[in-house]
Amino acid sequence: MQSTAILDSPIEYLKGVGPARGELLKKELSVFTLRDLLMSFPFRYVDKTKFHKVRDLNEDSETVQIRGILRRLETAGDGRKKRLVGRFRDDTGVIDLVWFTGVSWLQKSLQIGKEYVAFGKINNFKGKLSLPHPEMEIVTEEGIKKASSFAPVYPSTEKLNLKGLDAKGRRKLMKTIFEKIQPTDIRENLPNYMIEKFNFPSRFEAIQHIHFPTTAKELERATKRLKFEELFFLQLRLLQIRGHRKATIKGIPFPAIGDKFLTFFNEKLPFELTGAQKRVIKEIRRDLGSGRQLNRLLQGDVGSGKTIVGLMCMLIALDNGYQSCLMAPTEILAQQHFAGISEYVEGLDIEVGFLSGSVKGKKRAALLERLKNGEIDILIGTHALIEDWVVFPKLGLAITDEQHRFGVKHRAKLWQKSKPSPPHILVMTATPIPRTLAMTLYGDLEVSVIDELPPGRKEIKTVHRHEGHRLRVLGFMKEEITKGRQIYIVFPLIQESEKLDLQNLENGYELLLRDFPMPEYQISVVHGKMKAKDKDFEMQRFIKGETQIMVATTVIEVGVNVPNASVMIIENTERFGLSQLHQLRGRVGRGAEQSYCILMTGYKLSKEARSRIQTMTGTNDGFKIAEADLQLRGPGNMEGTQQSGILNFKLADLSKDQRILQIAREVAARILDQDPNLEKEINARLNWYMKTQGKKYKAWSRIS
Ligand code: ADP
Ligand code: MG
Repeated sequence: MQSTAILDSPIEYLKGVGPARGELLKKELSVFTLRDLLMSFPFRYVDKTKFHKVRDLNEDSETVQIRGILRRLETAGDGRKKRLVGRFRDDTGVIDLVWFTGVSWLQKSLQIGKEYVAFGKINNFKGKLSLPHPEMEIVTEEGIKKASSFAPVYPSTEKLNLKGLDAKGRRKLMKTIFEKIQPTDIRENLPNYMIEKFNFPSRFEAIQHIHFPTTAKELERATKRLKFEELFFLQLRLLQIRGHRKATIKGIPFPAIGDKFLTFFNEKLPFELTGAQKRVIKEIRRDLGSGRQLNRLLQGDVGSGKTIVGLMCMLIALDNGYQSCLMAPTEILAQQHFAGISEYVEGLDIEVGFLSGSVKGKKRAALLERLKNGEIDILIGTHALIEDWVVFPKLGLAITDEQHRFGVKHRAKLWQKSKPSPPHILVMTATPIPRTLAMTLYGDLEVSVIDELPPGRKEIKTVHRHEGHRLRVLGFMKEEITKGRQIYIVFPLIQESEKLDLQNLENGYELLLRDFPMPEYQISVVHGKMKAKDKDFEMQRFIKGETQIMVATTVIEVGVNVPNASVMIIENTERFGLSQLHQLRGRVGRGAEQSYCILMTGYKLSKEARSRIQTMTGTNDGFKIAEADLQLRGPGNMEGTQQSGILNFKLADLSKDQRILQIAREVAARILDQDPNLEKEINARLNWYMKTQGKKYKAWSRIS
């Protein structure tokens, strides 16, 4: 233990740091100890094995390395503007080297007529290129060798740069650290058998090479090992949480398949379940009957029929004498679920209740009272459900729909709603999430996938149209309405300016009225600024078919189910993210008719927007779209992931490292299978390392 202490010493004691720079490192980079600095990895490297030619330099050149002869050296300007200018020539041209500090020392040490390697960042002043403050290395056998490697570049800030902690300064500090420490100071955290199996460098080597690789191969091996480490320990943690939970938490046993479930299945179910739905219900049923707690993520594409699966699970709870709840992210969606589920269970003698922020006063009091008395069997609502004053006497199953809108915190609150055993938890996602994200964000849950759509669904035809096509689009709308179909027109929600947002929608509505005049046509309008009651009124008119067109903001994104609607027109498509577009498109194609999605945009599109639109016109498969979304945006920007510290990897990137993650998870699972508490000697290093990482994971391990 003692031998690792050096890495714990405060950063200001490192040679070349001191109190002022130490303060800065703490403030700017949260670096407090030598270990922290050691673990701040470069974000890129400059390949110093490659030389640039002066002729090829241009204003876009960044960091360059030139091999040439120092021709002249003279000072220019005076006072504060005094600088040293060197003329540097290679076999293709000449460039100025400029220094503003250390002039007299440089004048003494640089040798005119000698061959150097100059390394630095190109400066472009009104078209004249120069190389300010280059690092100079004289060309000798050894000098070339020293220069010929990858120079690490660290994330920096203006303040750090000013205090000499720029790329070069940081490199110097790293060198100092490596002069001070021994290989034993960086304790190995992987067992030998793993290191051998994967041909990893040791942990010390990996960290040394991530800072100072001498070859591309070395860098690659180091990166791979360190990425693996990050993903592996996270998986080990997640799977350990899952294992502990399985071992220690008693689930409420649901042994019976009873009257309600069977009556519903035999007499009420309006269609045949798909094979995938049946399989998933079996998977869930197995958990529920096992005496373990169900903790399952249910993935399925838009329209794959997750709701009915959720409902059937609630019926199992009921048959075993328990209540259930279903939590949805928006009022509209919650109400739809309430209406839909109430209809499904009509005649089964089941009490369904509804609770949201809009249920107030006496109505609310009465509902809570009935809930507390156990009169309500199924409670459906928004996140109002998790408030402390909502008391279930016998909550057996909690379902959250479209989970990515809820935080993990909400999941934890649901846990508290039933004592002594927590309720079973089923999490349903709106659109599929990429596998790598599911494995990390929900890595402690079991996963079920509905990978089949109900029969008879036609592919939704998706096209991209510009403003110039507007007339034809209007004509098409009229045709569809004549056939008896209904149409959605969705406007983007402009978060920075709700006013503009509304204006956008209102202008669109005004224009529409000209082509679709009343009373021949009826148009519903729904947006976020409306009162719940008015929204509901407009929605109902559309659902009942009293209006042909629904003009809306993204409030209709999730869940709305009107099978007769066959056209989805999205305005300013470029403003929407992929998963949102896919959700919106999923509002049509729910009936037997051919459906269409029309993506309207302006003429000017960013590369990324174009790519999103191509993805949408190219496929209807939500799983493929989720992967494309991850590739385009990166894991940190996916909906619902921002708040989750769990994705803060140093090196690993879930959009690129699927393979490493997959292996890391498999290895972790195999180890825990044989040694759930990591007590075996062979896993001693894992055990030790997990303990040192305890704090990092504490925040979210409690939750799930
Ligand atoms: P999502 O998975 O997007 O939540 P829903 O549960 O809302 O999908 O189901 C979409 C539509 O498909 C609903 O109208 C539902 O009644 C219908 N549906 C679900 N399962 C089937 C099935 N097996 N056969 C036919 N229609 C189904
Ligand atoms: Mg749904």
